Amino acid sequence: MKFNTKNYDYLIVGAGPYGSIFAHEAAKHGKRSLIIEKRSHIGGNMYTHKEHGINVHDFGAHIFHTDNKEVWDYVNQFTEFNGYINQVVANYKGELYNLPFNMNTFYQMWGVKTPEEAAAKIADQKAAAGISGIPKNLEEQAISLIGTDIYSKLIKGYTEKQWGRKASELPSFIIRRLPVRYTFDNNYFNHRYQGVPVDGYTVIFDKMLNSELIDVQTNIDFFANKEEYLTEFPKVIYTGMIDAFFDYQFGELEYRSVRFESETFESDNKQGNAVINYTDAETPYTRVMEWRHFDKKADKGKTIITKEYPQNWDRTKEAYYPVNDKRNSDLFKKYRKLADKQEKVLFGGRLGNYQYYDMDQVFNAALKAVAKEFS
Ligand code: FAD
Repeated sequence: MKFNTKNYDYLIVGAGPYGSIFAHEAAKHGKRSLIIEKRSHIGGNMYTHKEHGINVHDFGAHIFHTDNKEVWDYVNQFTEFNGYINQVVANYKGELYNLPFNMNTFYQMWGVKTPEEAAAKIADQKAAAGISGIPKNLEEQAISLIGTDIYSKLIKGYTEKQWGRKASELPSFIIRRLPVRYTFDNNYFNHRYQGVPVDGYTVIFDKMLNSELIDVQTNIDFFANKEEYLTEFPKVIYTGMIDAFFDYQFGELEYRSVRFESETFESDNKQGNAVINYTDAETPYTRVMEWRHFDKKADKGKTIITKEYPQNWDRTKEAYYPVNDKRNSDLFKKYRKLADKQEKVLFGGRLGNYQYYDMDQVFNAALKAVAKEFS
């Protein structure tokens, strides 16, 4: 079977943001792309769908936030944003706290009312913990940054569920810094630009890929015909897993996965906030999203909530979070060396680079790659 029937310039593996931006920009240069996507839809993990007049994010809450004006202007060509500001609430065994750690959290935790009182409380707890020298693991790192109360109620259980390991066995670099704010400010992000698209994220991709020079085939896995694709296409942009491309020849890179469970209720308001984190160890999920609260204009009458359960990754599950510890970083470097030798394949995106990227970082990386390609 022939695949490059239209003399495409590029085969793009993956219709997520990296692949879609590449195709869109290549089309502006008169280049023709075929995108193949193994899922049944475009948009990668940014995919959203509308249900009961509510935009549901199928792969977990996606809030666009950035300081990069170029990226913000770029994404705004394709959609209007709704001004949503992420303000997360933590539920620890029924006690509620605002996140990220700020004066509201400190007041709720200790009753302190001024920045000086809060700073003194944190300094006391850090001193009492008596951790000296370089923190040996995540637990010591967190306690030395924020003290024992916040660590044990808001960090420990959540982190252990997220990574599937004890905090005392996790490397300290996972939390090099912790956001601590001595102001009454619940905005989860520090970035200047933030929001969620008024009509969901998928419309961005509908617009990006709406070109005579771009064809998209869904439900197609690159690995079903890898050799033929590589032979027939002059250039391949590959946004799948880098170790899979090389047939796992040095071993598997490790990921954490998550599983989502959604429920619909006859209500306009089930939990009162877009995101609630469950920070104890016993609750099996880490977060609960109520989608209507991401968009004040959602239709009334029903509400949809989604619980996010962390789980171990294996090849049958979606790879979401790379585990960037030493073993995996060393392994990735070996695959990277092989990738550098593939002259006609460009490895991009979060799976191609084995990196946790936020959306703005992926947009930026794709725009840089395109600029280099056409410079
Ligand atoms: P993807 O979006 O994963 O796209 C890659 C595509 O390639 C996928 O559709 C995949 O099916 C396809 N593919 C892979 N292998 C093959 C193959 N062999 N053949 C054919 N197709 C293939 N970012 C933020 O900025 N804000 C947030 O709030 C945020 N929340 C997140 C929450 C969760 C739970 C997760 C997991 C991520 C979140 N992100 C967030 C990150 C965001 O999802 C990523 O930055 C972005 O999706 C990465 O884009 P990508 O193109 O690299 O990869």
